[in-house]
Amino acid sequence: LTLGGRLTLARRKAKMLVDGDAGSTSDWDDRWNHIKKFLERSGPFMHPDFEPSTESLQFMLETCKILVIGAGGLGCELLKNLALSGFRNIHVVDMDNIDVSNLNRQFLFRAKDVGRPKADVAADFINSRVPGCFCPSFYLYLEFHIIVCGLDSIVARRWMNGMLLSLLVYEDGVLDPSSIIPLIDGGTEGFKGNARVILPGMTACIDCTLELYPPQINFPMCTIASMPRLPEHCIEYVRILQWPKEMPFGDDMALDGDDPEHIQWVYQKSLERAAEFSITGVTYRLTQGVVKRIIPAVASTNAAIAAACATEVFKIASSAYLPLNNYMVFNDVDGLYTYTFEAERKENCSACSQVPSDLHFSPSSKLQEVLDYLTESTSLQMKSPAITTTMDGKNKTLYLQSVASIEQRTRPNLTKTLNELGLADGQELAVADVTTPQTVLFKLCFTS
Ligand SMILES: [Zn+2]
Repeated sequence: LTLGGRLTLARRKAKMLVDGDAGSTSDWDDRWNHIKKFLERSGPFMHPDFEPSTESLQFMLETCKILVIGAGGLGCELLKNLALSGFRNIHVVDMDNIDVSNLNRQFLFRAKDVGRPKADVAADFINSRVPGCFCPSFYLYLEFHIIVCGLDSIVARRWMNGMLLSLLVYEDGVLDPSSIIPLIDGGTEGFKGNARVILPGMTACIDCTLELYPPQINFPMCTIASMPRLPEHCIEYVRILQWPKEMPFGDDMALDGDDPEHIQWVYQKSLERAAEFSITGVTYRLTQGVVKRIIPAVASTNAAIAAACATEVFKIASSAYLPLNNYMVFNDVDGLYTYTFEAERKENCSACSQVPSDLHFSPSSKLQEVLDYLTESTSLQMKSPAITTTMDGKNKTLYLQSVASIEQRTRPNLTKTLNELGLADGQELAVADVTTPQTVLFKLCFTS
């Protein structure tokens, strides 16, 4: 199916869902004129199969359900943009509470809201400012037409990606397009950002392009320990090596990035270390930034990325314009640069391909090596994988980290070889991890 065909299909589906009762909401004359200009007359950028009509707007106003994941810097922008674009059935999820440091850019929150759940306050704000908008807190993923992510966590993104993949329906290996829920994903980091459109099962998913997300920057230990060049190296030295050795606040006191006394101690020690190597630039603020792994949030980057994401939601919901195909990068570190490319599906993607990936190991490899591969491979980047298999018709847990008693019981397996564990060539391993709601299947391929 071409993208155009897919969307025509989506539109047909959408039309079926439109119910006749359109005039029941609190609209005033000309309220949606700015939207109608895009949907009720033709223009040069219109989708070739689109016929202008009043139906698209009615669908957006009455039927289309959007789930916004994340009510932080991107989420606030997204909710505002979507609510003002004619979407009235917007649901929002966020696990965080409001912190005072959010208030400079997360503009749906005020000082009085500090400590309250972000999702509740954001929904209340939108409901009170955009009449007729409805933001309830209960939801099922299946009921949404489109999902938008404005998250700062790659793990949460991957989990959402996996959730939408798990909802896909295949008949005789053929994907049923009506089971696709488009995912619009926005991400920002300082002055850089990206927006992408994912049609799960059809276009590149989050895990297909995992290599694009660099692993968290950790300085090499040898640099930190013996040849620091940057102020950050000195702070990391104190954080990783000096703190556990000196335990300045008592034996069991872990370094707390929110405790000013702790930061002050690290700051002073980092200054001493920096002086030793004639390095300048260690400040209290930088110390706190390195200890808490703070990446400065830039409100204008969030605004640009959220605008791109909300526009994609509008284009897909109305099917009036061709959506982004499928990955836009945005960078205004030096000047302003954007670039769009088509990220490709990975044939053996562990999340969206229908075939179990192969794991190549020698029978004399230890289970620990398999575990290391699952966490360190750039295309998998799992966090705490639990490995199970089936032997003689029974489920057997080879290793599981998240439950202490099972971890203890299965830990000895890590030093055993695959042979000793009784695993055979071609054996299926089922791996569960926080990066996906589904179990990922792997096939063990013995190398000689
Ligand atoms: Zn994939």
